[in-house]
Amino acid sequence: MKRETVVVLDFGGQYNQLIARRVRECNVYCEIYSYKTDIEKIKEIQPKGIIFTGGPNSVYLEDSPAYTEEIYKLGIPILGICYGSQLMMHQLGGKVEKAPVREYGKIEVHVNTDSALFQGVSPKTICWMSHNDYISKEAPGFEISARTNDCPVAAVENKEKKLYAVQFHPEVLHTQEGTKMLSNFVYQVCGCAGDWKMDSFVEDSIKAVREKVGNGKVLCALSGGVDSSVAAVLLSKAVGSQLTCVFVDHGLLRKNEGDEVEAVFGPEGSYDLNFIRVNAQERFYEKLKGVEEPERKRKIIGEEFIRVFEEEAKKIGAVDFLVQGTIYPDVVESGVGGESTVIKSHHNVGGLPDYVDFKEIIEPLRNLFKDEVRKAGLELGIPEYLVFRQPFPGPGLGIRIIGEVTAEKVKMVQEADAIWREEIANAGWDKKVNQYFAALTNMRSVGVMGDERTYDYAIALRAVTTTDFMTAESAELPWEIIGKATSRIINEVKHVNRVLYDCTGKPPATIEME
Ligand code: GLN
Repeated sequence: MKRETVVVLDFGGQYNQLIARRVRECNVYCEIYSYKTDIEKIKEIQPKGIIFTGGPNSVYLEDSPAYTEEIYKLGIPILGICYGSQLMMHQLGGKVEKAPVREYGKIEVHVNTDSALFQGVSPKTICWMSHNDYISKEAPGFEISARTNDCPVAAVENKEKKLYAVQFHPEVLHTQEGTKMLSNFVYQVCGCAGDWKMDSFVEDSIKAVREKVGNGKVLCALSGGVDSSVAAVLLSKAVGSQLTCVFVDHGLLRKNEGDEVEAVFGPEGSYDLNFIRVNAQERFYEKLKGVEEPERKRKIIGEEFIRVFEEEAKKIGAVDFLVQGTIYPDVVESGVGGESTVIKSHHNVGGLPDYVDFKEIIEPLRNLFKDEVRKAGLELGIPEYLVFRQPFPGPGLGIRIIGEVTAEKVKMVQEADAIWREEIANAGWDKKVNQYFAALTNMRSVGVMGDERTYDYAIALRAVTTTDFMTAESAELPWEIIGKATSRIINEVKHVNRVLYDCTGKPPATIEME
């Protein structure tokens, strides 16, 4: 049986992943595809509904992204959002042009609550708008179902054809009743049953993995992070002693982290994982010598990982499968799923050398968003403190050290990071910020300590608040925390003579430095 799926057709909008997440929060499985995806592929999926995302272009300009008009004839309900709504109108005979007044921000929208999309929504509701163009005339056969002071067509629909379009962004939380609208679309319009739940995901995955693996041997890359921990525990429930977990200490972990991971998953811990720890620090430092370019560092670390696993696999005999904790945003951000340009190549996706010695790679979390991974983790009985750990990138401190990585720099950033985390926790801010760490800038500058000139490194402290890690704000921490951490870092960490606080949000920066 086909899994009930809603497809997000991505026209390059910044909120593409958010749309998919919101739909999944309604318990409907949702996947993102680029607008370049062949319609045959979409037909194969037999989606219950399709959502067109927003996008930066103007539909009336040549070369703007479009989709074959055949899509409107499949009888599958479609919801166009912003650019997607404009595209639908443009293609079906309406008119889109530059708006006399551009709308940006929270705008009051008057909706027709008789529309299936707006059932249970207040007649006047606040929505997030972000557009320069507008629909000046709806397409024939369509009825206007919402308007604002400046936007005569804020929503429009053709009930018979099940085509819906909204100028605003229901996926953004600033749209107060946006989740209700998306839920109306998937339930009232698409007639979804809502079978996407984490308990059944866990059950189904365990079954699927068991079937796939048979009597095969499985090797799992365990980093101690949320994703790989959940993947490992899921695998151990599926295939028990056929699983071996290898934890590579690549020398780019946080202070004491290697020992902590070993304590939880090792022989003294509470899981049966055939845990092997490989201390490969020197190997990684050697490979990273002289390498400054972030993407190359990521690639090198990723490849060296695979090499270490291959060697480990040989030691334990034939291995058929390799498990990786890849999650859905990795897939989308690597440009595989959606339309967003490649921002960073992800440690877990692509870039694998094609001479890998394993029959196949298993990625049990490949379709999950982070919050879904955590839910799956809780379903699997993994303790909360592990499930809610802050994110730590696969390449570890390798990308929190700008420029060349050396053992000495690793030590510096480890010490500074430990102090920073301790001070934030002491001040009770560890629950209030979502991610915080220290990074080593590649900058050295002049200072004076003990009447003597120094020429040493600058540490950058980072702390951000975010709900989804796709956008983030730099946290407004009380000065005492930053001040105290600064003086401790200067005093306790050798070769650091300056501490900076990163005030940038995401965008324009990313949360990690590289
Ligand atoms: N570029 C289009 C506009 O300015 C659509 C914008 C969007 O999708 N956010 O109206």
